[in-house]
Amino acid sequence: MKNFAIAIHGGAGTILKEDMTPELEKAYLNALEEAMAAGFAVLKMDGTALEAVKAAIVMMEDNLLFNAGRGSVFTKKGIQEMDAAIMNGSTLEAGAIAGVRNVRNPIELALEVLENSNHVFLSGKGAIDFAMKQGVKLEPDDYFFSQFRYDQWKEIRDSDNYSLDHTHQGIQELMKDKKFGTVGAVACDSSGNIAAGTSTGGMTNKKFGRIGDSPVIGAGTYANNKTCAISCTGHGEPFIKAVAAHDVSCIMDYKNKSLHDAMHEVVHEKLIKLGGEGGMIGIDAKGNVSMQFNSVGMYRAYHKSSGEKVVGIYSKDL
Ligand code: ASP
Repeated sequence: MKNFAIAIHGGAGTILKEDMTPELEKAYLNALEEAMAAGFAVLKMDGTALEAVKAAIVMMEDNLLFNAGRGSVFTKKGIQEMDAAIMNGSTLEAGAIAGVRNVRNPIELALEVLENSNHVFLSGKGAIDFAMKQGVKLEPDDYFFSQFRYDQWKEIRDSDNYSLDHTHQGIQELMKDKKFGTVGAVACDSSGNIAAGTSTGGMTNKKFGRIGDSPVIGAGTYANNKTCAISCTGHGEPFIKAVAAHDVSCIMDYKNKSLHDAMHEVVHEKLIKLGGEGGMIGIDAKGNVSMQFNSVGMYRAYHKSSGEKVVGIYSKDL
């Protein structure tokens, strides 16, 4: 049996200890622990990396603390539209969905696309038709509502701005209550296969059917046993321009760099040049893990079969 491991994130951005109440901090740490434990339990039972990624992400989608599934941010029109993707590093099979409403667990729908469609990427109404055909659970609008995110959206809805769920810009007061974070997971199973997944409500006040990096294979999500599995979080537009997740894979493949060094080059050099605030988590087929970000903080955690375990929020935890 080979080493196995899981890493998760719950979003990156301006996450400051001074804005956090002890109760909220504890709630985030518990939520990260729970999601990580759900994924780790799958790996421990010799489940696949793909199943572990799904299990961890479902836990975070169901938690109002994170900007994914329940608790997703509001668009310019005051509705919630979600994006998600999942990729299997052993087969390069991928499934992604964008701009969907009322899907309880967007990562499950992305997995349905991977496993049971002839396609990779479905959007909007068509994706919902497919969800209904596959029996994926839907919920009414109320299920996804969170007062904090509604108030956060009201602050900027009359402007042309759109914002990361986790940045301060003009919403310092509201941030006292802050609840945010795109979610993602990467895993390496006991057979040495890797997988990555990401799920998000996107950015507050997004308009015109805007889609971020999260569901775009190669930008926010990528997995290939030969190199790495990556899930990103941050300002999606620069991550798409950088083809960030796939770029880490290319640097490992063509330049023979380690997971850590390849991620460092993308997060701390290439993305910075494009104004790409955020971070990513990565894993390779040996079970090495890296979690890097150029923002103030990133909700993150990993657990390896060796017993090594880390849960962190702020940059000093790195
Ligand atoms: N990357 C996501 C997007 O641009 C946002 C996030 O990571 O919070 O839609």
